[in-house]
Amino acid sequence: MYHGIDNVQTKGIVMLELKNIKKYYHVGDTITKALDDVSVAFRQQEFVAILGPSGSGKTTLLNMIGGLDRYDSGDLIIEGKSTKTFKDADWDAYRNNSIGFIFQSYNLIGHLSIMDNVEMGMTLSGVSKAEKRKRTEDALIRVGLKEHMHKQPNQLSGGQMQRVAIARAIANDPEILLADEPTGALDSETSEEIMQLIKDLSKERLVIMVTHNPQLAKQYADRIINFADGKIIDDSNPYSEHEADDHFTLKRTKMSFWTALKLSFTNIKTKKGRTFLTMFASSIGIISVAIVLALSTGFQSQIDKTEAETLAQYPITIAQQGTDTSTRPTQEKGFSKSKEITAQTSASDKAQHVNKIDQDYLDYINGLNKKLAKNISYTYTTGLNLIRNVDGTYKTVKFSNSNPDRTGADSSAMMATLGVGGSVYPVDRYGKQSYLKENYKAIAGRYPTKATDVVLVVNRDNTININSLKNLGFTVKENQKYTFKDLLGQQIKVVANDDYYQKLPTGNFLPKKASAAMADSKNTKTLTIVGVMRVKSKKSDGMLAPGIAYSDQLSRQVIAQNENSAIVKAQKSSDTNVLTGEATSGTAKKTLIGYLGGSKIPAAIQIYPNNFDDKDKILKYLDKYNKGKSKANKIIYTDLAGTVSNLTGGLMSAITYVLVAFAGISLVTSMIMIAIITYTSVLERTKEIGVLKALGARKKDITRVFDAETVILGVGAGVLGVFIAWLATFPINVILYNITDLANVSHLNPVHGVILIVISTILTVLGGHIPARMAAKKDAAIALRTE
Ligand code: ADP
Ligand code: MG
Repeated sequence: MYHGIDNVQTKGIVMLELKNIKKYYHVGDTITKALDDVSVAFRQQEFVAILGPSGSGKTTLLNMIGGLDRYDSGDLIIEGKSTKTFKDADWDAYRNNSIGFIFQSYNLIGHLSIMDNVEMGMTLSGVSKAEKRKRTEDALIRVGLKEHMHKQPNQLSGGQMQRVAIARAIANDPEILLADEPTGALDSETSEEIMQLIKDLSKERLVIMVTHNPQLAKQYADRIINFADGKIIDDSNPYSEHEADDHFTLKRTKMSFWTALKLSFTNIKTKKGRTFLTMFASSIGIISVAIVLALSTGFQSQIDKTEAETLAQYPITIAQQGTDTSTRPTQEKGFSKSKEITAQTSASDKAQHVNKIDQDYLDYINGLNKKLAKNISYTYTTGLNLIRNVDGTYKTVKFSNSNPDRTGADSSAMMATLGVGGSVYPVDRYGKQSYLKENYKAIAGRYPTKATDVVLVVNRDNTININSLKNLGFTVKENQKYTFKDLLGQQIKVVANDDYYQKLPTGNFLPKKASAAMADSKNTKTLTIVGVMRVKSKKSDGMLAPGIAYSDQLSRQVIAQNENSAIVKAQKSSDTNVLTGEATSGTAKKTLIGYLGGSKIPAAIQIYPNNFDDKDKILKYLDKYNKGKSKANKIIYTDLAGTVSNLTGGLMSAITYVLVAFAGISLVTSMIMIAIITYTSVLERTKEIGVLKALGARKKDITRVFDAETVILGVGAGVLGVFIAWLATFPINVILYNITDLANVSHLNPVHGVILIVISTILTVLGGHIPARMAAKKDAAIALRTE
C-alpha cells in the first residue's frame, strides 16, 4: 500500500522548498542563467505543471529538484532539511528513495526486460527479491500493463513504454514524482491517458510536471507555474512557506557486484556478435603467449630428455687410471738445432694420472647433493666365481662378451680364470632402480628388486652378443633364436672364494671343479635373470653393453663375503701371484687383490647428473676436492658428455624470452583494444548511465557495471584464447613432427592456461577501468540530455 494516502491528511506541510536558487552555465564568454534566483515552495501533495518556452530552464529546475544537478547558490530544503551539506551519497540516496523521474523519451534500458527496468531502483536500494517482484507487479498493474509485463521494451508502443517508465518511477514509492514533458512524444489520445494516470498518482504525492501544452496543464494540474528566462513569471496557486521540522531520513543505496554483473551480462547478450569479435580480437594476445609457452615447454622438455639421455650414456667418470688432459702439449714442437738427445717421458705417459681413490674420497662423493645426481655407480674389479647347471652338470661360466673359443683372447691367465665381465648398473642413492627404469624398458620380465636379480640387456633389434650366451654355457649357433621364456628365470650361482678355491701344497691356489656341492653351499648366492632390458632412447645406446648386467650392490656383497677369504689373505701377504706363482708387486698386486674381492675401493666411479646444469655444479664440486692438493693427490675425472655435446638450454631460453616479449606486446595491444571497446561502450550507454543515476546509482555502481563488463570480456577472451591455443597445438605438432621428427613438442601446460586466463582478466579490467571511471564521473544531467 502506498503511504502517500496518509500524506493526504497531512497536506500542507512543506515538502520541498527552493530558496534563491541560481544555476548559471558558462560556455565560452556567454553566461546562460538557466535558473535565476528561483524561490518556490511545494505542498506535500499537489499536481504542479510548469509551463514555459524552450530554453527557459524548466529541465534544469527539475534536475535541480531531483538532485541530478547541483545549484550554484541558494538552498533546496527537503522536508525541512537543508541540502547545502549534502554529499554525493546523500544525493544518490535522495534520488533513490524520494524521487521518481519520468522523461519525454522514456529512457528505458533497452537490454533489460520490462520487469528488470522497473525493478532497477529497488535493486539499487537492496530490496529483497520477493518484495521487489511484488512491488514491480503492483506498479505495472497500476499503470495498466498487466498483460505486457513479460515483454521486452522494444515490443511496446510509445504510450506503453511511457507507462513502464511511470511504473519504474513509482515502484520505489517516492514522495516526489518529476515528469519532464512526459507526453511530448505521444499522440493526443495517448497523452490524455498518460495525463490521467499521472493525475491519479498525484493524489498520493507531489507531482511536478514540465509541459509545453497549456491545454493539458489547465485540464489536469492543480497549480500552474509559468517560467521564462530562468525565472518564475506567474504562479497560479503559490504556497506561503513556513518552516517545518527536519524529519527527513534517507536510506543509502548500494548496488551489489552481482547486480552489476547481471546488468553487464544482459547488455553483452544483446550484442553477441560484436562481443564475440571483441573477445576474439582481445584473445589474440593470449593465443600467442599460450602458443609460445606451449612450444617452449615442449622444447625444454625435449632438451631435458636429450640431456638426460646423453648423460645416461656419458656419465662423469673417475677411474683409478685417469688421463689428465690439462698436461697435454697443445703446440707442435719445432726442430731442434741441438747436437744432444734428451730423455723424456712421453706426453701421453705424462698425462697418465693415478687417482688415489680412498675412503675419504668415497665419503666426499657420497656428500654430493642428491638432487644433482641420484645415480652414482661404482665399478669394482672384483671377479664373480660363477657356476651354472648346464644340462645337469655344473660348469664354470662368465658374464663376459669375449670370445671363449679364441685362445689368449683374455690377455692374462687371471682374466681367463676369473668370471669378470658383464655390465654394472647403479642402484640409485635411495636404493631404487631409477637408472634402469629411466633408461631401459623391460621388454620381458621385470626390473630387479634385489642384488641377486640380474638382467639381460639386448640391442634395439633384440640381438645379443653370441659370446655372452656361450660364456654362460649355452650351446648356441649364429642367428639362433631364443624366446624370452628360454632365458628368463635362468639361475647362475656365485660361489664364495673359500668354497671355490683350494689351496695346493705349494701354497698356490687353484679353482676347484664346479660341482653340485659348490652350488649348494650356504655361502653361495643364487642369481636369477629376472628381465630383458632394452634401451629406451632412439638416439643414445645406453651405458650397458648387451649381455648380462648386474647391480653394483652385488659387487659390494661379494666383496664383503670375500674380503677375508683365505686366498685374499694369502695374496695380501705375498709378493707372488697366488694363482700363477709369478712374481707380483705394486699396482699389479693391488689390482689382483681387487680381482679377488679383497678391496672395497672401486676401480671407477660413474656419476650420472640429471642435466647439463647439474653436471656443471657436480664438476665444480669435484674440482673443489682438488683445491690445495699436490699434483699426485689430485683426483682427475673425465667428462665425456662435455666432449661429445655442446648442447645447452641457453639459446633456447633466449629465443623463448624474445618470443614471449613479442607475445607480451600483443597482449598489451589487446588490453588497449579492450579499453577502447569499453570506452565505446561507455559512450553508447551514456543514456543508461544517466538513467541509473536518476534511479539513485552511485558513481561506484556505475564503475562496477563497466568493470563487470570488462571482467566478462576478460574471462571470455582468456578462455577463448587458451582454447584456441590448445586447438592450435594439434596442427603445430603435426607440422613439427613432419619437419623435426619430434613428437608432441607443443604442449600447453594447464597451469599456464589458468594463469593466462587470470592475466587476461586482470589486464582487461585494468584497461577497461579508466573508461569505467570516466563513465561514473559523467554528469547525470548532461547524460540524460544526450540523444
Ligand atoms: P528547457 O527545459 O526549459 O527547455 P533547459 O533547462 O534545458 O531549458 O535549459 C535552460 C538553458 O540552460 C538553455 O539555454 C540551455 O541551453 C542551457 N543549458 C542547459 N544545460 C546546459 C549545459 N550543460 N551547459 C550549458 N548550457 C546549458
Ligand atoms: Mg527541457
